[in-house]
Amino acid sequence: MLDFAGFSLYLERRSYRRGVTAPFLPCISGSMTQPRKLHIKSFGCQMNVYDAQRMVDALAPEGFVETANPDEADLVILNTCHIREKASEKVYSELGRLRVAKDEAALQGRRMAIAVAGCVAQAEGAEIIRRQPAVDVVVGPQSYHHLPQLLAEAARGGRALETEFPVEDKFGFLPPPQPDAIRARGISAFVTVQEGCDKFCTFCVVPYTRGAEVSRPVDKIVEDVRRLADNGVREITLIGQNVNAYHGDGPDGRPWPLGDLLRHLATIPGIARLRYSTSHPRDVDQSLIDAHRDLPALMPFVHLPVQSGSDAILAAMNRKHTADDYRRLADRFRSANPAIAFSSDFIVGFPGETAEDFAATLALVTQIGYAGAYSFKYSPRPGTPAAELQETVSAAVMDERLVRLQELIDSQQSAFNEAAIGTTVEVLFERAARNPGQIVGRTAYLQPAHVMAGPEIIGRILPVRIDSLERYSLIGELAAPQPHAAFVTRPDSSPQSLPITTGA
Ligand code: SF4
Repeated sequence: MLDFAGFSLYLERRSYRRGVTAPFLPCISGSMTQPRKLHIKSFGCQMNVYDAQRMVDALAPEGFVETANPDEADLVILNTCHIREKASEKVYSELGRLRVAKDEAALQGRRMAIAVAGCVAQAEGAEIIRRQPAVDVVVGPQSYHHLPQLLAEAARGGRALETEFPVEDKFGFLPPPQPDAIRARGISAFVTVQEGCDKFCTFCVVPYTRGAEVSRPVDKIVEDVRRLADNGVREITLIGQNVNAYHGDGPDGRPWPLGDLLRHLATIPGIARLRYSTSHPRDVDQSLIDAHRDLPALMPFVHLPVQSGSDAILAAMNRKHTADDYRRLADRFRSANPAIAFSSDFIVGFPGETAEDFAATLALVTQIGYAGAYSFKYSPRPGTPAAELQETVSAAVMDERLVRLQELIDSQQSAFNEAAIGTTVEVLFERAARNPGQIVGRTAYLQPAHVMAGPEIIGRILPVRIDSLERYSLIGELAAPQPHAAFVTRPDSSPQSLPITTGA
């Protein structure tokens, strides 16, 4: 395990302020009677998508309404992600563009505030303000509930920064979304049930940017899901960096595992589909396997990152499981529910990866038969243990390995796609498609599926006879209800259809 203190330089929580005690000032500028415009640009994973919504909810009582146009915004928030290469440099170049927009606004007599949130904010802290003084607020992922106070503090003429991990649970302080906001966001919603990670994979920044694992209590999650269901949401995806490490306090006073939580949520009227992401193989327990066996509402599509098929590389990554452990786990899932399909994450070219190690990865992919996967070339993240390792795989070899891995995964995806033609699948319809007259929804495996129909089918789960494919989308027509229409295809594993993940 990694020594957290050894990363103090990386985390360097140089804070202009410790805790938020400043009295709340309702306005940055202008009047509360004038709605102010908020633009949030979110990068990265589904956790960030969810966090962006919660920031909108936190700022709605302050009179902020969302705008898609950053140039007209009174407040722009960059909700950043640190998982990809050169993440912080991309944020700085984005901030350079925003500084120009802020100067333009000032010329028009308007104040534009800029806030940086998310994992880059957590990792870089005060350095962001030093490098780009146009930034007013820097706020880490655990402190979004303090945004109104931080903005008020910045409006008094200074800068505000909070990248502490506050002792209080931010979820207890974030206002719930308003019914209008829920309905505007559609029939599918994310709910955070867990945050942070204690696994310390050697390549990953999440334990340092999101902190230690914390699970929300069951009753709070149930409250959120009921509110969503009451306002038309049909599908819930439970999210967390390591979601199946969930162990929130249950109403019976004991910690509930994820499987028990899913079982309880499946009883809430209106909730037709449940999903969860992202899971770590080590934290799969029998409650989760049993939930897949017993719950028709739990979709049979499991995102289970493995990263490598080589035991030596898995050990170097500190993944705490072997390739065989993973194969056995996949077998247990499929024994519980034969319709289950998997997606995964892979890193190629990790320091020390030999040709044999890479061959083991290809062998694992062949054996598991993925519905799809994200695959990346290794690149070091500053502050992680792997960044200290000597890189041994040349760029050319990494490129070649990535191409071979992606070709293999693509061939598995194609087989899934083609298997859908001529079958009938259940689709939860979400919205009007770009093509006039078409409505688009998702299958159990997150495949986009298009039919010609009216908007009255949005929010309903209906059987669709699949006729053809267009790239990664299934094209079909509404079919007569069938008793066992669900899950008769293998999944489309198109990159578009997979959950975007960081973590686990
Ligand atoms: S890769 Fe996943 S399990 Fe590993 S440290 Fe990052 S979030 Fe945790």
